[in-house]
Amino acid sequence: MALVNIHFLNLQQNYLFADIAKKVNAFKVMHPKADVISLGIGDVTQPLCPAVVEAMHKAVSEMATADGFHGYGPEQGYDFLREAIVKNDFATRGIRLGIDEVFINDGAKSDTGNFQELLHWDNFIGVTDPIYPVYIDSNVMIGRCGTWRDGRWSNVRYMPTTAENGFVPELPKGRPVDVIYLCYPNNPTGTVITRQELRRWVNYALKNDALILFDAAYQAYIQDPEIPHSIYEIRGARKCAVEFRSFSKTAGFTGVRCGYTIVPKDVSVATFEGERIPLNQLWLRRQCTKFNGTSYISQRAAEAIYSPEGKQQVQQTIQYYMQNASRMLAVLRRLGFECYGGEHAPYIWMRTPDSTTSWQFFEQLLYGAHVVCTPGVGFGPSGEGYVRFTAFGSHEKTEEALKRIEKWTK
Ligand SMILES: *Cc1c(COP(=O)(O)O)cnc(C)c1O
Repeated sequence: MALVNIHFLNLQQNYLFADIAKKVNAFKVMHPKADVISLGIGDVTQPLCPAVVEAMHKAVSEMATADGFHGYGPEQGYDFLREAIVKNDFATRGIRLGIDEVFINDGAKSDTGNFQELLHWDNFIGVTDPIYPVYIDSNVMIGRCGTWRDGRWSNVRYMPTTAENGFVPELPKGRPVDVIYLCYPNNPTGTVITRQELRRWVNYALKNDALILFDAAYQAYIQDPEIPHSIYEIRGARKCAVEFRSFSKTAGFTGVRCGYTIVPKDVSVATFEGERIPLNQLWLRRQCTKFNGTSYISQRAAEAIYSPEGKQQVQQTIQYYMQNASRMLAVLRRLGFECYGGEHAPYIWMRTPDSTTSWQFFEQLLYGAHVVCTPGVGFGPSGEGYVRFTAFGSHEKTEEALKRIEKWTK
């Protein structure tokens, strides 16, 4: 008899965005003429930049020749891309990495979800709350999170980040956490972490022999040079942190699929006997068994982001989205809404007025202004009473949505 992995049955309801789609569809059935604008899902809208498109065309042409054909590539990625990453994303910030510490992937979602496989099932995980749902759900799938009660998992340490604490999570008190997920700039709150705050987390991890899984998918949106782009800007992080990066938000690769993970050779975890096991070797072993590399075409596309033209073009698109973000902040604040984020990230985190719940506000906005936002509670218990807006729309749609929100509030 084939038995199910019962941990999957513990997963809560649906994937957040499936629930939203259901509600939006119900609205559309009742209001077939309404033109709904989505400031909800975190997908980009602007086309790939010319440098990337050119590199992809070239790679396709190569693949059409016997000499230039590429079959299975190295599981950990081609050296041309790993070298470009080490040189451009890290050496320029004074961080020295070996190319064998870089693992190319098909996007950060897979690796942020899969990396926990390397860790014993009863590690105690901690997450800032609200958070990208993948971190917790992937741990639930192997039975690490306990039971679901009152909107939270019994065996997860939630570290609230809310307006009340200035979106600076407190270090865990009491039972130390073994594995900490941090995401900065943050999805969904759009807030950032200062160097000083990040140093507190690295020191906590070093002191407690904990592992930090640091998601830097939005680092390209940082506008202030004082804010760290990488956890390795902090001394000691090479011993306790793994970092996930993605070209999805940096260069519009959500449909191309390419990202990378940094696993420094100095990061290790323990056995019960006290032996230290380096994660770099373990991750390589895992990838070689379960992953067959990212396509050559995607990796050539990613390499092009590091060319002088690529860098400039990618920045233009980021600035395009950031213009949306500052327009949204300006208008929503003028209308009296309390907003956070949006300065170093393409997300605005807005408190709902008059203690409306996240889902109530979502429906009011959908029915009143035909605009879709994301209910904050979908990202964790501390997201209740907030909604997320994304700046990934076109200028035109974003302006139109703001106009409708303004009219609706009056
Ligand atoms: C979008 C996003 C990612 C990247 O996902 P990809 O699989 O690379 O497209 C990773 N982490 C967070 C927090 C994100 O919002």
